[in-house]
Amino acid sequence: MPKIFSSVFVKLFAILVAAGIGINLAILLFIGSFRHHLSTTYESHLARYIDFLVQEIGEPPDLQRAQRLATETGMKIAYDSPSRQWATHPRGEFPEQVCHHLFNLQDGRIQAGSYHGQHVFYVARDDGRLTFFLPKTWDADRKIKVFGLILLLGITLLLAAVYFAIRRVLKPLRGLEEGVRQVAQGRLGHQVPVQGRDELSALSRSFNDMTRQIALLIKAKERLVLDVSHELRSPLTRSKVALAMLPESAGKQSLLEDIGEMEAKIAELLESARAVGVKAELKRVPTDLAELIARTAAGFKDRPPGVRLAELPQLPPVSLDPRQTERALRNIIDNALKYSVPASPPVRIALHAREAFAVITVSDRGIGIPRADLALVFEPFYRVDPSRRARTGGYGLGLSLAKTIVEAHGGRIEIDSVHGEGTTVRILLPA
Ligand code: ADP
Repeated sequence: MPKIFSSVFVKLFAILVAAGIGINLAILLFIGSFRHHLSTTYESHLARYIDFLVQEIGEPPDLQRAQRLATETGMKIAYDSPSRQWATHPRGEFPEQVCHHLFNLQDGRIQAGSYHGQHVFYVARDDGRLTFFLPKTWDADRKIKVFGLILLLGITLLLAAVYFAIRRVLKPLRGLEEGVRQVAQGRLGHQVPVQGRDELSALSRSFNDMTRQIALLIKAKERLVLDVSHELRSPLTRSKVALAMLPESAGKQSLLEDIGEMEAKIAELLESARAVGVKAELKRVPTDLAELIARTAAGFKDRPPGVRLAELPQLPPVSLDPRQTERALRNIIDNALKYSVPASPPVRIALHAREAFAVITVSDRGIGIPRADLALVFEPFYRVDPSRRARTGGYGLGLSLAKTIVEAHGGRIEIDSVHGEGTTVRILLPA
């Protein structure tokens, strides 16, 4: 089924149009049966009137009497029989043939019809036929055309009004759809616009409440993790001091190593906690991005499989905090190297301008990320495969930190990856 027919808007519109057609058909049916009822009662009156006219003209039909009647009533009368023909008006003024609705009255003795809005009656006489051509009382054809045109215009306007009315009623749906998309991309701060008091507006309001609650819950969770890590620092330091006083042994060495690892973890946690507040503390200066990239990449020159810089264009300086940006970029290059395999070609770094953004691209040909994990790698503490840890180190904070920093600059990070083939991360910074 084409996409257009699965839209609620099109469905509602179609239902309305179908309902409109149905109502019109019902009205037409009603008028039709009413007319039928009317015409059967008025046929006998019509037949009597015509008989009366025929009597007026006399037997055999007399031209003089017909002319008098024609002058009085404005009708045109003609008589045709094999022996005699006459007409009150020139023959050219009579219709050659009756085109519309010829019907029989009184078993076919009288035939009635209309010709361009004028009524015609043919009355059979013993050996001939009388024709009565009634004066034009109204221009039915023209009126029907004008009426049809007005009707068409009216229906068009009505349909247009219905179209815009439905669009208006369904407007909150579009806002909600956008809201769901934004939240799916992790932007919990997004609020959908709320207008009016109908069910859809209530839904929008509930949606906003929901995202606000979720954001609060996440904040609380982050806060808890940070407070706990902070609290763990002092007991760890105390344990280290106490350990130092114990005599040397294999057990002491292993304990010291464990404590060292815990301290490193906590340091990283607190580091990322400080990044949450990074937005307020950005020290922006006009920065040459090509130079920043070259400087950051130089720090990795001894790490296999190496880093290769593409031709870096000279873009106009970008206003950003060089220290934080370098930190974000460092995390991404570090990942690209960490998740490369010995046979991988060097990690490639490029810079170019795209619309209002300066884009830094870091691509590797390493192990890649499974599709299902791709949306989650920016979450704090998310690691694709916890068993990778033993080989690579890290606590799943690198990408989340990079994202926080880039978004604080008003930019965004995009990631593309094919499992087993490699990963490309793009940092988009407003130019
Ligand atoms: P970590 O400290 O574990 O590297 P990150 O936040 O930097 O944490 O990354 C989160 C997860 O995303 C990593 O555990 C890793 O599985 C995956 N990942 C990140 N970058 C890459 C990459 N370039 N190639 C493959 N996997 C990656």
